[in-house]
Amino acid sequence: MKTIAQNGLIEAEQLTDLFRKQFGGTEDVRLFQAPARVNLIGEHTDYNDGFVMPAAIDFHTWVAAAPRDDLLLVVHSVEFGETEKFNLTTDSQTPKKHWSDYVAGVAFELRNAGIPVSGASLLVHGNVPLGSGLSSSASLEMATAYALTSLAGADPDRDRTQLALLCQRAENHFVGARCGIMDQFIAAHGQVEHALMLDCRSLQYELLPLPRGISLVICNTMVKHELASGEYNTRRRQCEEGAARLRGALPGIRALRDVRAEQLEHNAELLPREIYKRCRHVVTENERVLQMAAALRDSNLAAVGRLMFDSHQSLRDDYQVSCNELDAMVDIASALPGVIGARMTGGGFGGCTINLVEDDKVKTFRGAVAAEYQRRTGTVPEVYVTKASDGASELTDGASHSRTEEHA
Ligand code: ADP
Ligand code: MG
Repeated sequence: MKTIAQNGLIEAEQLTDLFRKQFGGTEDVRLFQAPARVNLIGEHTDYNDGFVMPAAIDFHTWVAAAPRDDLLLVVHSVEFGETEKFNLTTDSQTPKKHWSDYVAGVAFELRNAGIPVSGASLLVHGNVPLGSGLSSSASLEMATAYALTSLAGADPDRDRTQLALLCQRAENHFVGARCGIMDQFIAAHGQVEHALMLDCRSLQYELLPLPRGISLVICNTMVKHELASGEYNTRRRQCEEGAARLRGALPGIRALRDVRAEQLEHNAELLPREIYKRCRHVVTENERVLQMAAALRDSNLAAVGRLMFDSHQSLRDDYQVSCNELDAMVDIASALPGVIGARMTGGGFGGCTINLVEDDKVKTFRGAVAAEYQRRTGTVPEVYVTKASDGASELTDGASHSRTEEHA
């Protein structure tokens, strides 16, 4: 994979140059971006109608775009070194099982929603690690949606939530990946220096200030265990079963979101032990997200950290979606200076941890965590140091986007 962002900096001008090299022409090129994300707390709560708290991060997918005279969408990805074409009106709307499906799916969904998307040339370039759980897919979808809406002369800021829902639909129905709304939502609504608490049922959200002088440090275990998707489906089923059994005593509940911890304890005998543990994770995790919001409002760093460690423990012991590598990464982090909190993030069975680390300790943290993880597991991790970022936007003249550092 080639990238021009290896020094962590991409200039708007470079992106325009790449576009012109690819497509020629002298017409105006417009530039758009959408961020990747990390979930700070609220894991496996989304499909239980619960709360999540992601932040958009300083890794991006950029789309350089110019209109065409025909009804073709021509898309080039710098990362894949490939160009794909599709006709917006005559092509059957069938996926090709290819990266370009994310772009095509968004274009078709926009047209279905009545936005007059016309032909365009698009150059896609990103510095989000692909398939590492930072949601490069949603950042590609949102950057594309933002670009195509703008090119169609519509206002992408009129209803960002609508745009996020449409991107989710593209991923669910066109790409064929089952995902909740979190990734697209935060790519649309993220704000620099803020996390976002989202109610996955109502889609109401609140932006919460992150503590000053803290970095979001993401540690990639570099493992992905085979179990992940099968176990994910099992967990969903177990949550549904838990809610159904609890409904016997609590007729008002629609999902585990509606159950409070005391209610769960009071009715524990209705549930087989394993189902009870799954429910306990979801119920306590929802409460932790709400407590995290309060802790951030009060700048209570001790509470923020405790909630993150508690979340990890609950995912490890009750929900049983962690693995040795994730546990090792959190354990190592917990002993290092300047660490406010650490936990696994994402679906589990591998992937990344999220660590809140004091800025002036980040350098020693990344060195120490990488060395000790390698010593314990034999694997060299990747460590991404980042800050909370803004949601999708058009880049204006001279804008550049930078991020602090790259791999360990
Ligand atoms: P994640 O969202 O965690 O990164 P996914 O498997 O959901 O992992 O999405 C990754 C896929 O998104 C890639 O395999 C590719 O198809 C598409 N994608 C993301 N970024 C780009 C890019 N810059 N160029 C082309 N395709 C991309
Ligand atoms: Mg994805």
